[in-house]
Amino acid sequence: MPARVMIILPTETYRATAFLRAAGALGMDIAVASNEAPTLASLMDGRVLTLDLRHPADSGDRAADFAASWPVDAVIGVDEASVVTAAHIAERLGIARRNSIDAVEATRDKRLLRQRLGNAGIPQPRCVALDIDADGSALEEAIRTVGLPCVVKPVDLAASRGVIRADSRAEMITAVRRVGEMLRAICIDGSTPPLLIEAYVDGVEVAVEGLVRDGVVDVIALFDKPDPLIGPFFEETLYVAPSRLDKAAQRAVVDAVQGAVAALGLRHGPIHAEVRIADDECVVIEVAARSIGGLCAQVIRLHCDDAPDVERSLEEVILRQACGLRLGAISLASGACGVFMLPIRRQGVLERVTGLEDATAVPGITGVTMSVPVGERVTPLPEGDRYLGFIFARGDTASAVETSLRQAESLLDVEIAVAT
Ligand code: ADP
Ligand code: CA
Ligand code: CA
Repeated sequence: MPARVMIILPTETYRATAFLRAAGALGMDIAVASNEAPTLASLMDGRVLTLDLRHPADSGDRAADFAASWPVDAVIGVDEASVVTAAHIAERLGIARRNSIDAVEATRDKRLLRQRLGNAGIPQPRCVALDIDADGSALEEAIRTVGLPCVVKPVDLAASRGVIRADSRAEMITAVRRVGEMLRAICIDGSTPPLLIEAYVDGVEVAVEGLVRDGVVDVIALFDKPDPLIGPFFEETLYVAPSRLDKAAQRAVVDAVQGAVAALGLRHGPIHAEVRIADDECVVIEVAARSIGGLCAQVIRLHCDDAPDVERSLEEVILRQACGLRLGAISLASGACGVFMLPIRRQGVLERVTGLEDATAVPGITGVTMSVPVGERVTPLPEGDRYLGFIFARGDTASAVETSLRQAESLLDVEIAVAT
């Protein structure tokens, strides 16, 4: 019998196509759980489950009812908006390879993350929680605790949304007010969680894409982020693998991530972690219990020891592990790969993107995908929550890939009209 897997797909996710395609390629039987029912849901018994992703525990109950008629072997949360729901459902169904709700929740709330890592002695920025309406003395106290420069951030958003560096007391206060406004505007039930104020960690940043197997982190890719990430906002642009860091530094990064994963109690499935290398110490910025976001995973091609001649996608590897299929050791396909996430540079309406053909024709470029349709309103960081698009590249070396990506990006011309 083919494995039957429940994939939780938030309406807004970038990850649907990749996971559905991978499950199809593996011949798996798929049940899609989503917060919006397709119009034909009633005709698709056993294939579609409608959930309210804002209520993970209730979703666990609904999924248990569903699985009583249509059992599933694995539950996959594809992104930040679905991992906690996936953990609840997996627990309700007694899925063997799952993470505890507690561990996954700690990756979705930066206060919990800092507590867990702090208790385990994992190097991380000094931090303090601060109410968005904090008065002057509370702000002073926060600055005294963490020092300047500092980073103001929401505890439960992603993709650098609302993350602002402040170098002075005045900048810190402006940042707190700005993020506070933003959180008030997007909150659904009238209550906004506090902010986190962290010491700014100076240093090169890398991202670790990993697969946790029985608590052990198997590194899938260590990505350099060759554009400086120094703020005030933290637009992710370039990701390039394999890393050009020396072996000792790579080892130290992986050790830090393994320590963080153990501290959190994550046992199974993908992780995506960010680490800064500061004064020879690896400082953990965060660990997410999901694979790399956006469309970035497209560039990752993997070899697994169980079938050395086959190239697999990251999603295929994640699904195989979740269903207990053979994998063996995992490694990146030879050569280098990278992605340029195109940031939204100003507020307005996306009018036109030109140069796509020229960008696509740059040697090494394997694809250019715009992810915002022309005519839509766009908002840059720190308030924005989307990427304009993605440029993908492969090459013999990481530096060749970086060159291709930068050249392709320079050929794109994005016109954003100021909205009236
Ligand atoms: P998100 O969940 O939105 O990705 P992060 O905490 O990972 O939030 O912050 C986004 C980015 O901001 C990080 O990748 C890093 O570049 C920068 N950043 C966040 N916290 C710090 C910090 N304490 N020191 C330096 N840079 C930071
Ligand atoms: Ca995050
Ligand atoms: Ca992050």
